Amino acid sequence: MDYRALDVERVHADTLLDGLRRPLHDLRISVTDRCNLRCTYCMPREIFDENHAYLPRSELLTFEEIERLAGLFIRLGVRKIRLTGGEPLLRHGIEQLIEKLARRQTAEGVPVEIALTTNGVLLARKAQSLKDAGLSRVTVSLDGLSNATFQRMSGSEVAVATVLEGIAAARTAGLGPVKVNMVVKRGANEHEILPMAEHFRHSGIVLRFIEFMDVGTSNGWRMDDVVPAREILDRIAVCHPLEQLDPHYSGEVAERWRYADGAGEVGVIASVTHAFCNECSRVRLATDGRLYTCLFASEGLDLRAPLRQGEGDRVLTNLIADCWGRRSDQYSQLRHAATGEAASQVKKVEMSYIGG
Ligand code: SAM
Ligand code: SF4
Ligand code: SF4
Repeated sequence: MDYRALDVERVHADTLLDGLRRPLHDLRISVTDRCNLRCTYCMPREIFDENHAYLPRSELLTFEEIERLAGLFIRLGVRKIRLTGGEPLLRHGIEQLIEKLARRQTAEGVPVEIALTTNGVLLARKAQSLKDAGLSRVTVSLDGLSNATFQRMSGSEVAVATVLEGIAAARTAGLGPVKVNMVVKRGANEHEILPMAEHFRHSGIVLRFIEFMDVGTSNGWRMDDVVPAREILDRIAVCHPLEQLDPHYSGEVAERWRYADGAGEVGVIASVTHAFCNECSRVRLATDGRLYTCLFASEGLDLRAPLRQGEGDRVLTNLIADCWGRRSDQYSQLRHAATGEAASQVKKVEMSYIGG
């Protein structure tokens, strides 16, 4: 499916608006809170160690439950579903879930993009089956090209080559356009900005740099560790001049830039220094069926209980619509941009559980 065509759907989607008149368009589903990496900014090993209590299987939404909820979200205007986690490729039988979602979007009669974000470790062996199941696209996270940096960032001994093979397999399988996300942390992998840009120039893959965010409460976030998007762009532009591109659609979180010499495109996601809450149309369904209207939320709406109590579509739809209608989240815009002071001192949920 041409994902640009989704813009049209966006305009014509049922306009369920939140308290700040933002439509509901994107649904992110965390299918597991487990991961085979320990990225320092997400699941630091000191905290996510062998004593960490992951959700027991009985508390995870089943594929049937996810499919049913996805159908309701589609009817409420969702046109993009992203599977995430934790590491979504660790969820046993993930292809079956993708098949169900693909069938559901056909049954609902509207085009819905089904995407997945992965660390790429298991992608080489799964890319073709994911494509066959109906996945539209993948985004792969990769924080550096040297093994030393990547292994330090990911708290693992995985080789960069494993992730690069995953990216290549995704392209061969037709899971495109493939995007690569790199979280940049001051003093940790900023020296990889230019090598990463140069590696992906001329490749057709869009590399996007993400500012290190204060999600959860375990990653020891400090404003000093954030490399502002502007600085990232300046570092690239010294060697490879850049020109800004228009967004694909209003509300696109990544700012788009093209290499002036025609070598392709890069993006920056300036969640900290240039917050985009005004346009935020995302809702997150956590691994256990709680619904969160912001990445930085501390409370979610329990959808699993009414699902398992046998409530009908109407009750569930009203719960979701009411939750979205009452939404007024704008955490990143309220965070003091200069000092990085948190907008709230309340304990926030972890990214691996809520779905990044
Ligand atoms: N495990 C998969 C992966 O890493 O792609 C999917 C889940 S991960 C939580 C989704 C995305 O969130 C990744 O691109 C990751 O780099 C990003 N992420 C996690 N913690 C972050 C943080 N503190 N700041 C910015 N991005 C973060
Ligand atoms: Fe795992 Fe993704 Fe978090 Fe890294 S960013 S620890 S790969 S969930
Ligand atoms: Fe959306 Fe919350 Fe992020 Fe703002 S801080 S862009 S409301 S998820």
